[in-house]
Amino acid sequence: MIKIEDLCKSYKDTAPLKNVNAVINDGDVVSIIGPSGTGKSTLLRCINLLEKPTSGRIFIDGTEVTSPDCNIESIRGRVGMVFQSFNLFPHLTAIENIMLAPVDLLKKDRQEAYVRGMELLHTVGLPDKALSYPDELSGGQKQRIAIARTLAMEPEVILLDEPTSALDPTMVGEVQSVIRELTKLNKTMLIVTHEMNFARAISNRVFYMDEGSIYEEGTPDQIFDHPKKEKTRRFIHRLMVLTLDADSDSFDFPGTRGKIESYCIKNQVPYRMTLNTILAFEELIQLNLIKSPEKREISISFEFSADENEMVFTIDYSGNEYNAFELSDPVSLGVLNTAVTRKTYSFDDKNKLGNRLVLLINQG
Ligand code: ADP
Ligand code: MG
Repeated sequence: MIKIEDLCKSYKDTAPLKNVNAVINDGDVVSIIGPSGTGKSTLLRCINLLEKPTSGRIFIDGTEVTSPDCNIESIRGRVGMVFQSFNLFPHLTAIENIMLAPVDLLKKDRQEAYVRGMELLHTVGLPDKALSYPDELSGGQKQRIAIARTLAMEPEVILLDEPTSALDPTMVGEVQSVIRELTKLNKTMLIVTHEMNFARAISNRVFYMDEGSIYEEGTPDQIFDHPKKEKTRRFIHRLMVLTLDADSDSFDFPGTRGKIESYCIKNQVPYRMTLNTILAFEELIQLNLIKSPEKREISISFEFSADENEMVFTIDYSGNEYNAFELSDPVSLGVLNTAVTRKTYSFDDKNKLGNRLVLLINQG
């Protein structure tokens, strides 16, 4: 059990943790969410004693780890951490990275550490990469090795700080599935993540951090579907929405398309719906609004609701009244009519971005 009492951490100019209190039971898998800069990493680093709290106390299984006479090395062995940026040693192979701490810190003999290391490489699905160096591995593979390295210390508690956020979207899934397997080991886990579907699938508790403390906590259903506090609600809602602004001169088309694709992968938008979303984006933005002779400011947003299996694509743009959907050329209009099941157009000349198209994307 981890018990956190009145934990505070200040730096010279900021005080990210003002008053954190929590009890985390053995086997709990806690997802920690919240806007950036709210102290999520700081909290994990305090638990792992990578950071010294300014005040307050942390107990792990009854031992006060914040006490001055606590043996930091022994705590680090019990509490493993996985970082966003892998932190593998570049000059060591995968298996050497995994064996290093057990041999150096736990004084395991090399053969035993090797056998356990190979077992762990199987656990993360990479037994054939034992002799590869980190720069011969993809980001997803590096992170899986980093997870194996953490497990090699046989920690009771595993802390993961945004383990998938440095990865190319195509590699998020393989790392998530390894983490999902870890939750079956009945270890206590704290994971900072922005992937809500993932958090929902693996955790039994969610902490929403804001204003220097755990602002709201509950089960995934409570936090994601029925948050009690307005700030939590706004944050959850924003995670589901992708908003992009540009004007027709400087629209970064491939960049934007990439962001939409990542958003769809991240939120597990069904494949057909993703294709239709991208089609609607291409037809209306690339082939229509950007090409139109009038320079327009454009703001687009995508809002996917997993519960209703609905994707709403909203386009706001400046300029004179112009229904970009109905005034598309006939070929585009044909594509749009299959990609979109419902559309509404409105115009408000008092608003700078007065044109608004709201499209419900076809599920396919
Ligand atoms: P999060 O992980 O929620 O994004 P962090 O815990 O990384 O937030 O940071 C919380 C705040 O503390 C931020 O304002 C950050 O700039 C500040 N901070 C974090 N680490 C340090 C440090 N070593 N020195 C000074 N300020 C820091
Ligand atoms: Mg962080």
